[in-house]
Amino acid sequence: MQHTTDIAIIGAGPTGLFAVFECGMLKTRCHVIDALPDIGGQCVALYPEKPIYDIPAFPSITGADLITQLAAQARPFKPVYHLGQQVVGLEAQGNGWLLTLSGGDTITAGAVIIAAGAGAFGPNRPPLDGIEAYEATGGVQYYVRRMADYTGKRVVIAGGGDSAVDWALNLAPIAAHVALVHRRPKFRAAPESLAQLEALVATGKVELVVPYQLDGLQGAHGQLTAVRVVTLEGETRDLPADVLLPFFGLSMELGPILDWGLNLERNHIAVDQATCATSRPGIFAVGDVATYPHKLKLILTGFAEAAHAAHAAHRYLFPGQEMHFEYSTTKGVTGL
Ligand code: FAD
Repeated sequence: MQHTTDIAIIGAGPTGLFAVFECGMLKTRCHVIDALPDIGGQCVALYPEKPIYDIPAFPSITGADLITQLAAQARPFKPVYHLGQQVVGLEAQGNGWLLTLSGGDTITAGAVIIAAGAGAFGPNRPPLDGIEAYEATGGVQYYVRRMADYTGKRVVIAGGGDSAVDWALNLAPIAAHVALVHRRPKFRAAPESLAQLEALVATGKVELVVPYQLDGLQGAHGQLTAVRVVTLEGETRDLPADVLLPFFGLSMELGPILDWGLNLERNHIAVDQATCATSRPGIFAVGDVATYPHKLKLILTGFAEAAHAAHAAHRYLFPGQEMHFEYSTTKGVTGL
């Protein structure tokens, strides 16, 4: 599908979300793209329940609550979110920019604000031969989007943390069989979850496959039939499976952004601090991904940069149009 907007914002972390608000106050429309299936960047992916103490006017607010507030603040400006998709291409097109998303959609934008943090989040993928074919058919999945899709399925879950344990607990009642593979007998999860897991193992609803590691995938034409696991001693087992869910955490990588012809400094995008303009006209960068001398990598810094970038992008999109600076108290926000 093809989309058109004033400004494309790459990254739905705290900085990207506040950029939607700042752009909206200047009446510029935004599309926001994020590789993760949910908005929130590091705050949601890495520390949703941790309190943050240095957000102005919030003595303490959790990562998840901060994102809920930022999303509410952005909502009146009707941002269009493209989640679960990475921006893989950015090229000049006429007076603007053409963004290509990993799902195949394209977005034509007059200006671009890159709020990509430390890069696109993606799952740590187990190094198994031929895994791509199974990823394409859903035989290997890294996120559970709809629990109902696992009804009556033979599910193998791999990992030793909260996600692996929680999904074993949640899918056990609906799946035909759940096997939980971990290289050690000990799991890192909340004590209540571990107690529930023990109970399900006792009733046979969940099978613990420990201490085993993933070794291979079996099937044909991307149709998974079994997951091979192995011990450190080399003893193997084949677990019948329709789907493998590996939960080995998230990694971040700037990836395609490094190839967009922008001036970089040690894996960050160099910007002019006053405007957040990059070396390419019409492309701005804010938040953790942007750098200049003495940059403070903090959420509050990203907020101020979002305001600078929104104003600079407006000047870029509408050259010659006089912009009267107004406080939000004067302008107001409809729809809040
Ligand atoms: P991010 O939050 O990293 O969001 C960037 C988003 O862009 C990601 O969701 C990513 O998937 C997406 N993205 C990147 N590339 C692409 C692409 N090509 N296509 C699509 N999407 C893409 N800061 C504070 O100020 N105070 C604190 O107390 C604090 N505590 C922290 C505690 C922890 C444990 C951690 C890890 C960080 C903490 N930080 C704190 C830092 C803070 O979280 C970051 O400064 C902030 O998240 C940066 O926001 P951002 O929007 O710039 O980037």
